Order: sequence, then C-alpha cells, then structure tokens
Amino acid sequence: MVLVIGSGVGGAIIGMELAKANIPVTIIEKGPFCHVKDSYKYYDSDKIDDNLDLSKTVCVGGSSVVAAGNGVRLLEEELAKYDVDISKELDEVEELIGVHQMDDSHFGKGTKKFIEAAKSIGLQVSKMPKFIREEDCVKCGNCAWGCPNDAKWSSQDFIKIAIENGAKLIDNIEVTEIIHEKNSVKGVNIKNSDGSTKIIESDTIILSAGAIDSAIILQNSGIKAGEKLFVDPFVTVGGIIKDINYNREVTMNALVVGGNFVLAPHYSTILNENIDDNSVKKGDILSIMVKIPDDNNGKIVDGEVIKENTIKDVRFIAEGAATAGAILVKAGVDPTTIVSTHLRGAHPGGTAPIGDIVDENLETKYKGLFVSDASVIPEAPGAPPILAILALSKRLSKYLIKKQK
Ligand SMILES: Cc1cc2nc3c(=O)[nH]c(=O)nc-3n(C[C@H](O)[C@H](O)[C@H](O)COP(=O)(O)OP(=O)(O)OC[C@H]3O[C@@H](n4cnc5c(N)ncnc54)[C@H](O)[C@@H]3O)c2cc1C
Repeated sequence: MVLVIGSGVGGAIIGMELAKANIPVTIIEKGPFCHVKDSYKYYDSDKIDDNLDLSKTVCVGGSSVVAAGNGVRLLEEELAKYDVDISKELDEVEELIGVHQMDDSHFGKGTKKFIEAAKSIGLQVSKMPKFIREEDCVKCGNCAWGCPNDAKWSSQDFIKIAIENGAKLIDNIEVTEIIHEKNSVKGVNIKNSDGSTKIIESDTIILSAGAIDSAIILQNSGIKAGEKLFVDPFVTVGGIIKDINYNREVTMNALVVGGNFVLAPHYSTILNENIDDNSVKKGDILSIMVKIPDDNNGKIVDGEVIKENTIKDVRFIAEGAATAGAILVKAGVDPTTIVSTHLRGAHPGGTAPIGDIVDENLETKYKGLFVSDASVIPEAPGAPPILAILALSKRLSKYLIKKQK
C-alpha cells in the first residue's frame, strides 16, 4: 500500500492517479474534510515576524481551497536543468483542471481600470489564466476565503475521485515522523486527535505536507531538509475610488509581468485598516498585488520558520510598488490615499529541493521515500506554483504506476 501524506496540491493528484490505476493507496491528512466554502476557518498562518505573515490552510485540499484560481505555467526551463521535463504533464494538468482565460463577462469595473491604466503607461497586460468555471462563479470576490459555489477547481475534487476509485482517506490525523531502517522507508508515526500515537507501515511513502510541514516531518525523522526556503512575498497596494466595488470582482483576473515582479489587481481588508478614515468602505478601494521571487534564504529550525528579507527583496518590492502606484493614479485613485499592506507570503517552497534532498524522480536517499509538493521546487518562481506542483506530482504518479506494475 502506498501512503500519501497530505491531501493538498502535491498529494491529492497522486492519490487520484494511483487509485485510478488500481494501486492501493491511503491518504493521511492533518485537517478535516470541510466544505470549500468553510475553508477560511482552517487558515493556519505562521507569523514569521512583525513584517511577514505566511498563509496556508490545514484541511483536505490544502491551500488549493483558498487559492485565487490562477493557473500559471512556469518552471519548465528551470526544472529541465535538473533533467526534469514537465512540459507534457503541464499540458495534461491544464486540461484536467480546465485552465483558461475567463470570459469578458467576468471582468468588472476595477479590473478594466487596471488593464486600461497599465496599458496607458506602456505596460504589457494579459488576462490571468484561471481554473474557475464562469457558469458557477457568482463574482463575489471570495476566492481566498473558500468559493461559496464550488466554481473553482481545488484538490478536494481529486480527493473525491480518488475515494470513488478505492483510495482511503484518513483525515484529522497528523504524521509526525517517517520511520526508516538501513536507508529504506518502513512507515510513519501518526498522532491521533486524542494525542495517542500509532505506526502505519508502508514501503512507499509520498510526503506532500507542504513546504513547511514536509520539512518539519523530515527533520523529526533525522533527514536533512528545511533550508533554502522561499515564500514569494507580496504586498497589496491600494487607495480610494468611491464605489468601485473591486472587492466584489473575480480576484487577480489580469497580470502584468515586470522584470523583477508581477502585478495583479487584488483586494485586501488590511488596506481598510491602514487607511486613516473609518468611513471608507471595502467597495471604495482599488488595489494591486505586487509579488516578487525572493532569495531562497529562509530555513526551518526547531519547527519555526526563519526568513529575512534581503536588500534585493526590498528593492524588487519597491520597484513593483512604485509601478502599482503609477497604475492606480492613472486609474483614478486619489494619490493621497494610497497605502500598502505589510509583507505576506502564500507560496512557501524549496525546503527539499530537487538536486539536493530529492533526485529527478523526487526520491530521497531513503529508498521508497518521495517528496512531492512545493518543497521540491529548487528556485523561487515569484508566481503561482499550483500548475508546476501538479505537473511534478503527475509525473511522479506515472513513475510509481510503471514501477508497481
Ligand atoms: C490565499 C492563497 C491563495 C493562493 N492562490 C494561488 C493561486 O491562485 N494559484 C497558485 O498556483 N497558487 C496559489 N497559492 C499557493 C498554492 O496554494 C500553494 O503553493 C500550494 O497549495 C502548495 O501545495 P503543496 O502540496 O505544497 O501544499 P498544500 O496544498 O498546502 O498541501 C499540504 C497538505 O498537507 C497537510 N498536512 C500538513 N502537515 C501534515 C501532517 N503532519 N500530517 C498530515 N497532513 C499534513 C495540510 O493540511 C495540507 O492539506 C495560494 C495560496 C494561498 C494561501
């Protein structure tokens, strides 16, 4: 029996593919199987310091349940340097989750202003590739709180297919340690919600607990991991345009790719807190996310995330924020009202990178122990990584299916 640890982006697709190939598979998930619309309750953010929050959710589906639905194709060239070709798998996963540019009916006033203003100052703007179905999307702007209408693909969709095909899902159980002997994997230690512990045996284990938790589990097991962490930090910069109601639009539906940053329209309630005027409503703000690829200089020590911003990170954020400010002013935002959020991160990765902790087949030096989630990404993409993680896991599924038959 194959054990998959974590039911998020990296784990769910492997559970589904193995189950469809009639390979016995059990998926162990720390969080509960909640409805996607309730997933905001399962945010488990790490406050790294006063200047940086790291967001993730602990529930079936992992952080995909709160994703903005952006399906950006990336890391093909970077991974090719490590003899990992994901081009075919990227095509396959784009098809599987229905990546497409949304119909014009799903572009609201705020997004249109962003597009026009960015173009007018000479920037190239494109529609964001999305995995959101127009027919179910009610344009509520709640993607990052859990879609109320299941209009967006999430890894829960794959978990349901996995179960239909015979996979076993055990939720509300935490894996604490990998058991290995003589360089081969033997099983995992689990902790039940009542605190009791148990061993589950398996000679094939796929660790997909996300870049922070996979690293912690590896470290608990005496296996090197947890260095070279990146988080792709972002800020949201915005100001007042009365009654623009951007907070009720499909989030991040357009994209500007700069040399050192990407920009996309994005609303955050933190902006309301930071504007010194209590009469400003959520619907009075137009705002833009500025995201950068950061240095892989973070690490995990004793279960804690340690990450400092480098001069380069600060410079890239400043460049992006200045460009966002120029777009906002062109779009009609009152320049005297523009504020920013603090730095946040939503794409942790790099803690068990290919070429160091895992090989080109995502196997560690312990036979039968694989890692397949954002941990294995060797370079910070500075852009949404779901498609790349799905493609890597799809590729690993093919390898495992071939090996087991
Ligand atoms: C608000 C937000 C919006 C985002 N939007 C996008 C987007 O639009 N497009 C995009 O490409 N990316 C987006 N991302 C990033 C994307 O969601 C993550 O990069 C991706 O989910 C990482 O996949 P993963 O498999 O590494 O981890 P996850 O998907 O987080 O899966 C890890 C799973 O492991 C479980 N787990 C953790 N510890 C244990 C344990 N000890 N035992 C058992 N199970 C455990 C967790 O509960 C979780 O279910 C967003 C992230 C956030 C937070």
